[in-house]
Amino acid sequence: MESFKCSCGNTLFFGNTRCLTCGSGVGYDPERDTLIPIRPGSGVKLCENGQRHNNCNWVLSSRSNERLCVACRMNRTIPDLNSARNKSLWAKMEVAKRRLLYTLLRLGISLPSKIENPNIGLAFDIVSTITNPEITMGHLNGVITVNLEEADDSYRQINKQQLGESSRTLLGHFRHESAHYLWQRFLSHLSWEDPQRLAFRQRFGDEWLDYSAALQAHYDKGPPSNWESRFITAYAASHPWEDWAETWAHYLQIVDGLETCEALGIQVKFISIPLITLPAEAGTLPDSLPQSADADGEFLAWLQRWMCLAPVLNEVSHSIGEAPLYPFIITPKVAQKLRLAHHYANLWGQS
Ligand SMILES: [Zn+2]
Ligand SMILES: [Zn+2]
Ligand SMILES: [Zn+2]
Repeated sequence: MESFKCSCGNTLFFGNTRCLTCGSGVGYDPERDTLIPIRPGSGVKLCENGQRHNNCNWVLSSRSNERLCVACRMNRTIPDLNSARNKSLWAKMEVAKRRLLYTLLRLGISLPSKIENPNIGLAFDIVSTITNPEITMGHLNGVITVNLEEADDSYRQINKQQLGESSRTLLGHFRHESAHYLWQRFLSHLSWEDPQRLAFRQRFGDEWLDYSAALQAHYDKGPPSNWESRFITAYAASHPWEDWAETWAHYLQIVDGLETCEALGIQVKFISIPLITLPAEAGTLPDSLPQSADADGEFLAWLQRWMCLAPVLNEVSHSIGEAPLYPFIITPKVAQKLRLAHHYANLWGQS
């Protein structure tokens, strides 16, 4: 995530609605990829969800006939706003959703809404399982459904413990579901032997495996005993699609994390931190794809920067009495999957 500058020179962050130095109201303009002041003459207006519900800081052109920003226009279903609790949970959901959209747009991936483009567009259903017990989180034909209750910290904590997850966040949910959406949009229509699709199978396994049986087996028996050597999370071991979704979510986490460090002037060097050095093959693409040793090396250097940062994040977290911020291990097999995610990101970013 980049940081931004106010016209007064103060540093602004993505979620800011006001500059604390000069008092200007500010909002994020997705077209210009910057935070800009909202005032007469600046040519923008605040999204109506920001004006009415104080839960969005994105802007749109003041000449636009639309009332909602591009991110809010993707909402197909929003919670019942007669409940104050729902309103505050919804605001947390929107923060996570906007951060996902920001990263995808930065990668260059076009994101039409489902209204603009019913075939490949994206929409969100933000629904509470208290009022709609039948819903499950997931992706279907361009619609990502998230459970509003997950925005309740104690609810999410209980799920996290019951499912034995080391990390469970709203942003993680959005990133995970975006992987299913992108898979369907960019890979599902390719022929079985298309190199891109073959590459997927080579890294993630046979996607024709019976999905519901695989998930049931995962919940009944748990992950295989040595899952850490091959998967980024235990859930990733349940089915190739879930492995892809967990890997993609993780890839976006690293993209965002390293971008944030660089934007704030943190230089990550390969010194003084004992780190796992990945072997060269950890940066390689499946052999169905064109090979480039330079691109592989660049990817590995990028990933190693993150792997230097991870123990620092964890130690700082311990210093303030918290659990490790980054409870993950990137093995060579996991790195190879991240490499493929990086390849797809570059490919789809030119779409
Ligand atoms: Zn300012
Ligand atoms: Zn909005
Ligand atoms: Zn999934």
